[in-house]
Amino acid sequence: MTDTDIKQLDERTVQRIAAGEVVERPASAVKELVENSLDADASRIDVAVEAGGTESIRVRDDGQGMNEVDVRAAVREHTTSKIDDVSDLEAGVATLGFRGEALHTIGAVARLTITTKPRGAEGAGTELVFVDGEVESVGPAGCPEGTTVEVTDLFFNTPARKKYLKTETTEFTHVNRVVTQYALANPDVAVSLEHDGREVFSTTGQGDLQSTILSVYGTDVATNMIAVDAEPAVGSEFPEGPLDGISGYVSHPETNRSTREYVSTFINGRYVTSGAAREAIMDAYDGQLGNGRYPFVVLDLSVPADTVDVNVHPRKMEVRFDDEAGFKRQLETAVEDALLEHGLVRSSAPRG
Ligand code: ADP
Ligand code: MG
Repeated sequence: MTDTDIKQLDERTVQRIAAGEVVERPASAVKELVENSLDADASRIDVAVEAGGTESIRVRDDGQGMNEVDVRAAVREHTTSKIDDVSDLEAGVATLGFRGEALHTIGAVARLTITTKPRGAEGAGTELVFVDGEVESVGPAGCPEGTTVEVTDLFFNTPARKKYLKTETTEFTHVNRVVTQYALANPDVAVSLEHDGREVFSTTGQGDLQSTILSVYGTDVATNMIAVDAEPAVGSEFPEGPLDGISGYVSHPETNRSTREYVSTFINGRYVTSGAAREAIMDAYDGQLGNGRYPFVVLDLSVPADTVDVNVHPRKMEVRFDDEAGFKRQLETAVEDALLEHGLVRSSAPRG
């Protein structure tokens, strides 16, 4: 036998490497935790981070909560309450998560404290501490109904990953973007975000998108938003394409920014990015925005549930349609019509 430098990595190391690829930065953990709260049917979600999330992340919800057996199971690898087998996947999943890996993965590269109590349960709840891939302690804890997950010491055991973190300001920008998208996508959930003890925004959860936009982006932006509401009603000129309807708000051309981070599009309530969507929206503004300027956009695009496959790449938020031309035509028309109605763009040449 010859000597070799190639050695088998131990399981713990393999797990940490894999986890570091899934949880890239504080914002990735925030995203998973907020999705879990939404899946647990929460009507309020409070996110608080310290030092951009590098020191600590806390997500508290008033969702359905877990009992001790549930929470022990929740941190194990590939455990989920959301699907049973692959046939459920083929039927389509309504929940944001289903892989059963987020909690386990975060707990492989951080210290995770979960405090939880099922809705309607009497007495104490449960606190479980999970560190470096293992349960450290479980015991009763006084807590309200719902679930609080706290993540500290992120990447304590993966120094290479920790080194890649940007400044606290940059990390917070990512966290803010994630929480903002979920707040805008869920006007019926009261979402709040706190950074280093200071409130960044909080929405009321009353279900009204315009007031959600106001809570998130402030009065100046909210008062300059124009409603978009297009659907292929009988006799309407809504073009053919993959969309069933388009609703939400776009800003007056004068209310713009130098980054496209305020262009939010959702497909059936899920945040997605799409180059085609951005192009169609920009085309609708017909040069009314300055060079390199982007509007504020919060638009939900509805498609029949079986025509878009969201399960393939849960972490990829990019979406593509077979009929891209039809998709762009629908979106451009909807936005342009809204702007035209307010005299904000010229009626353009034939569309297409
Ligand atoms: P997934 O979301 O893919 O099922 P996770 O690792 O994110 O996997 O969560 C594992 C399980 O833990 C979930 O299926 C759910 O049963 C439970 N869980 C996680 N977070 C919460 C929460 N905030 N409230 C109630 N249950 C939760
Ligand atoms: Mg999840």
